[in-house]
Amino acid sequence: MNSLKEFIDTYKDYPKKGIEFKDVLGIIQEPVIFKELILKMSSSQIIKNAEAIISIDARGFIFGSAISLQASKPMIVARKPGKLPGELVENNYTLEYGENTLSIQKKALHKYNSYAIVDDLLATGGTVNCVSKILEQNNKEVLGILVVVELSNLEGKLKLDFPVESSIIY
Ligand code: AMP
Repeated sequence: MNSLKEFIDTYKDYPKKGIEFKDVLGIIQEPVIFKELILKMSSSQIIKNAEAIISIDARGFIFGSAISLQASKPMIVARKPGKLPGELVENNYTLEYGENTLSIQKKALHKYNSYAIVDDLLATGGTVNCVSKILEQNNKEVLGILVVVELSNLEGKLKLDFPVESSIIY
């Protein structure tokens, strides 16, 4: 789906000098393109084989929830600090431009055993790695990750020991 690139704006030096920020939000301003992308992502074998989807705060929610609806799969979320109530499981990670923590609600996580991770973009792989570590520490299976954009020069894939499916590769 190379034509998708025309709906992605690049912002140099955002949010920090040296980062080329890829803004995927143009895609959801184009319902036909967005639908085509969601249909493609939802037909992935990773999604089909997973018991549930886990999507990552915040742009991952946009794509994850649309896939969840299309594929009729439950979705749970991994969120940044201070956003989720109840008992949580957490892990820290390093981002292309900073550090953060992700949390998952224990109650939601315990319902499903195998997961497809969904996010907007794979850069260094730190974020996805953080989510997969939480899942593995709780004896859950990670079947793979689906992202809209992959920044291949950052080699995030090399950090991950499960399949990565990306719709656009830079
Ligand atoms: P990483 O952990 O390095 O793979 O970073 C992936 C996460 O950070 C995703 O949730 C993205 O939303 C965000 N991100 C990292 N780098 C970029 C970038 N260059 N452009 C847009 N989003 C980015």
